[in-house]
Amino acid sequence: MQFKDLQLNKPILKAISAKGYEIPTPIQEQTIPLVLAKKDIIASAQTGTGKTAAFALPILQLLFDKQDASKKGKKIRALVISPTRELALQIEENFATYAKFTNLKSTVIFGGASIEPQKDVLRKGVDILIATPGRLLDLHKQDCINLDYIETLVLDEADLMLDMGFIDDVKKIERLCPKSKQILLFSATMPHKVVELANSILNEPETIDITPSQSTAEGVLQKLYYVGKNNKMELCLHLLRNTIKGDILIFRRTKFGVEKLENMLKKNGYSVDSIHGDKTQKDREAALNKFKNKNVNILIATDVASRGIDISNLDAVINFDIPNVPETYVHRIGRTGRAGNIGASYSFCAADEKTYIKTIEELIGDKIPVEAEHPYPLDPKAKPEVYFKKGTENKKNRKSAGSKKNKKRWY
Ligand code: AMP
Repeated sequence: MQFKDLQLNKPILKAISAKGYEIPTPIQEQTIPLVLAKKDIIASAQTGTGKTAAFALPILQLLFDKQDASKKGKKIRALVISPTRELALQIEENFATYAKFTNLKSTVIFGGASIEPQKDVLRKGVDILIATPGRLLDLHKQDCINLDYIETLVLDEADLMLDMGFIDDVKKIERLCPKSKQILLFSATMPHKVVELANSILNEPETIDITPSQSTAEGVLQKLYYVGKNNKMELCLHLLRNTIKGDILIFRRTKFGVEKLENMLKKNGYSVDSIHGDKTQKDREAALNKFKNKNVNILIATDVASRGIDISNLDAVINFDIPNVPETYVHRIGRTGRAGNIGASYSFCAADEKTYIKTIEELIGDKIPVEAEHPYPLDPKAKPEVYFKKGTENKKNRKSAGSKKNKKRWY
């Protein structure tokens, strides 16, 4: 199928061609006609599938076709809600690129940045607004945003949005828009709470499922290293010295872990930067740009900070900590080997992460190949470490610590 078969009009086809896209991706093939037909949509799709263009292109077309020249000033007619600032910025960049040959204007608003310049742009008028939930409600409360003319509402990365505690904000935003609007909901995974939200706000939605769980995993050379928790730093250095080269994204579970690893790698002479939730917007953008522009070749990130960010052509992903949500593993390693490149993923599993590997393998329907030949193997008898709540490390607790009954751990 060609883009022109999707009934897109000239200015949009021109922008697609200028961007160098030749054929639509599967999610674009399925989504574009439904959006143009004004259907509500619930779509399972991860980043990297081309989902941004899948909603941005038809939205632009709908807005372009129905422009009312008599209306004074621009009204916000499409609203995209995104959980993170980075993702919101990326979506806006996409809209701006695809709208290049139209007179449609978009802007992005997010927290952690000065509010006044955002108000200035809104005052001048835009057709499409991309926003994180908190800042949107804040500006709405200050009367800087009118949602009365919204025709299409997009909820992007809905699962992450709910994980981040935005459920009430999302519901509130939905209620602030006109009842008659079209809603497009995109989510990498479909946990019960996302389906529940969809059921409560979508109108007879069409379902689209582009979850290439297995194929994403299959396209990547995967390696699993069993290693003691305290030896992960050493193993990482060993692999960076001997095995892993090029542009590398390292995932850690916590901000603290990100910083610890960053300091250690810097001390060892590596060019590295990081993104996590405690960094300012400016610092996160600077780190991302440094990585994209190849000023540093290693970026360390938490899942939340990096989710949805389009970092392509990665040579390797290191799962320094094994994710406890199996879909996150597929998500992470799917960042390598994009656009036909072969990527590699290196996962470091300590004793207390073995159960996560089991659930990941269940999801991908395959065993992750184990690399046993390395200098820091995990003692096969090693038991998961047990952490006591302060003041509870009495004899009784200690005795039961290794027992099957005592599943509870405190970190
Ligand atoms: P997304 O899933 O929206 O984050 O898109 C992932 C990447 O795919 C982005 O870099 C897009 O520019 C690119 N992309 C989107 N659609 C196409 C297409 N039809 N052909 C080639 N690249 C595309």
